[in-house]
Formats: sequence, structure tokens, C-alpha cells
Amino acid sequence: MIDALPPLREVIETHGLSAKKSLGQNFILDLNLTSRIARIPGDLSGADVLEVGPGPGGLTRGLLAEGARRVVAIEKDPRCLPALAEIAAHYPGRLEVHEGDALEFDPRLLNGPVHIVANLPYNVGTELLVRWLTPKVWPPFWSGLTLMFQREVADRITAQPGGKAYGRLAVLAQWKAEARVALTLPPEAFTPPPKVHSAVVHLTPRPEPQFPADPKMMNRVVAMAFGQRRKMLRASMKAMTPGIEDVLVEAGIKPTERAEQVPIEGFAALSRALTARGL
Ligand code: SAM
Repeated sequence: MIDALPPLREVIETHGLSAKKSLGQNFILDLNLTSRIARIPGDLSGADVLEVGPGPGGLTRGLLAEGARRVVAIEKDPRCLPALAEIAAHYPGRLEVHEGDALEFDPRLLNGPVHIVANLPYNVGTELLVRWLTPKVWPPFWSGLTLMFQREVADRITAQPGGKAYGRLAVLAQWKAEARVALTLPPEAFTPPPKVHSAVVHLTPRPEPQFPADPKMMNRVVAMAFGQRRKMLRASMKAMTPGIEDVLVEAGIKPTERAEQVPIEGFAALSRALTARGL
């Protein structure tokens, strides 16, 4: 046992927390596993943690038992609040729970850098990841992200050039952060089990994007390049500017290459070349 609170199956039964599909509720009930996930970010004794979607609180308990200084949790399902209040009472002054939608919560309301941890429905997780990677200023308000995704999405975040998984998400994530798959989990790790495997991705922000480029131009370039990923870049990027072949060559990219062959450095060079032409 990681704490003296009741086992999660009992918590779920006591508070009537039958899993709702509409909220993407696949709970982790094994507290050894939630502690393992809570250890991925490293020492959290000096950090505030933002947990999104705590549900019945398995990961919350893992974080607190592993020594997180303070956890601020946002949960959309009001049925979970009494169970979370029991955890807050067990760890006085260390858990603050907000009822609400994580997509509407402004994490800048928190003081200082936070480490974000979440086991969220996958669509919400991807949308939040993109938002957290594209704040107005960099470095961002978070010092690390430890997020559960569908395995296939985790692979897209951490993919290297040359394969099908490499695309906009890999370029955006790795341009701004170091990203790795820290743990993979089979469907049986969850109650109820989802259809697919899952993985925890851990991201640490780079002090500045890995290669210089204007973020808006970078976004335009990458969206256009991968929008027609099977085409050669001289075709997929044609609408960007007349003479795109020359710009590609100037950026060190063969015009006959396809987007998935171009490393992040190449997209940054192409963005700089286009910006230099006044685009
Ligand atoms: N963290 C718990 C665990 O690991 O067992 C629960 C994980 S469950 C996959 C996802 C949780 O996110 C649910 O408790 C669900 O109610 C909550 N949730 C879903 N959409 C949300 C949103 N937009 N904002 C905040 N919480 C959300």
C-alpha cells in the first residue's frame, strides 16, 4: 500500500464512479503502477504539479505518495469530487481540486513553473499538448509534461524522420522539447480496458526551440509539407511561392524529397529562407 486510504475499487464503489465513455474514463486502479508513473518526472518535492483529469485519484495518490510538494487537479466529472476530497484530507494543504474543463482552465493562473501530469481522453490530451507547445512566449509556463496517450499517438510525438509516424506532431514536439516514451501499457492496465495500447510520453522543454525559425512560418511550412505528404516537396510546397525549388535548395533540401524525409533542422532552414524572402 502506498497510503492508508481505501483501495481504488472500494473508492469507486463507495462513490458510484462507474466509468463514463463520454468522458474517456479508463481508470488505473493499481497504485504501484500510478506510483511508477508519478516517478517518471523525477523529484517533485520542490515542484507544483498540475494534474488534469484525476478521476477517482489513483495517479493523484501516486504523485502525493511520491512526494510532490503540491498537486492542483482539474476534473470535469463532479462525481469524482468527494473521492478527491478524501485524498485532500489525507494530505493536508497539498491537494487543491478544481471542478472544470481542462480546455478552459488557464494554467498561467498557477504560480511559477508547474509540472503537468495527465491521463486524459486521447483527443483532449492531443489538443492540450499542442496548446502547451505553442504558448505566446517560450520557455513555457511548464517545466515538464508527463502525459498518457494512445500508443500510436505517442509514436507520432517521438517519431524520427523516415517513417510514417513522422509528421507535424513530431516536428512541433521535438522542435520545442525533448520527448521520449517513458512507459508503455497494455489495455489490461486500465478499468475498463481501452481497445488499444497506451504509452506515457515525457517532455522536457528546450530553453529555446532547437533551431531558429519564426514559429508562424514554421507552422505554415510544416502544415503544407505534410498536408500532401506523399508528394515531392517541389509539388507540395508550390503554393508557398514561385521559385520554391530554389528556396528548397537554399535550405539544403532536395526538391524531390518528401516531407517525411526532412529533419526538423531542414524545416527550420526552409522557414528562415522563406521569411528572408519577405513571406
Ligand atoms: N487519472 C485517472 C486515472 O489515471 O485513473 C483518470 C483517467 S481517465 C482516462 C480520464 C479522466 O479525465 C476522467 O476522470 C475524466 O472525467 C477526466 N476528463 C475528461 N475530459 C476532461 C476535461 N476536458 N477536463 C478535465 N478532466 C477531464
